[in-house]
Amino acid sequence: MKTWLFRTGQVAECDGIILSDLRKTPGSEFRNVLLCALKLLKEIDPYRYRRVQRRIQWIVCTTLSKAGSAEYRHNTKSCEMEFIEPSADYDLEWLIGWYACVLVHEATHGKIKSRGVAYSKKWRLRIEELCVLEEHKFLMHMAITRPGLASRFDAKFVAAKWRWHWDTPQREQILIQLRRSLFPEKGHNKSRQAGSGASTVPDPPKRPGAATL
Ligand SMILES: [Zn+2]
Repeated sequence: MKTWLFRTGQVAECDGIILSDLRKTPGSEFRNVLLCALKLLKEIDPYRYRRVQRRIQWIVCTTLSKAGSAEYRHNTKSCEMEFIEPSADYDLEWLIGWYACVLVHEATHGKIKSRGVAYSKKWRLRIEELCVLEEHKFLMHMAITRPGLASRFDAKFVAAKWRWHWDTPQREQILIQLRRSLFPEKGHNKSRQAGSGASTVPDPPKRPGAATL
């Protein structure tokens, strides 16, 4: 049922991974940035790219409970994200690298879940540590061919980033997501909520940049 909804927002396909934009923001960079992120990942770390191919069938731009966050859904093999629309002076190269890290992180969730490990209170800390460790390994590959870009990321594990998601009841998170979907906050697309949850996009260094496929 949900994949039918994803299909209605399909904007691109790359090696079997389908990009779906459910927010349909006019002039959105979602398609361009995510295709560039996939291309970057494929070029510099084919091993983790194959994992993304295996574990993520859909990359979906939608509204979540927290601005700028991303989440893995095992039942649909989807990575749902609230894509941050870059402003004119936003550093697109950085943003592409950031979303490549997000895909590595979320695909690792897929791999762990496929091994039967539930995202329980007992295991969630260890699971997030492993996902961040995979980001770090990806950045080590990036450092070989793109040292300048790689040096601008820091894949340190900070448990506080997930605290809000861990401490807020699921039902409340769904209500917040629903409210944010129905009543978008003014300018929420550019808002940052540090420490709000998984893979939240922080403020990047601003530098003029352009990226195309
Ligand atoms: Zn995670």
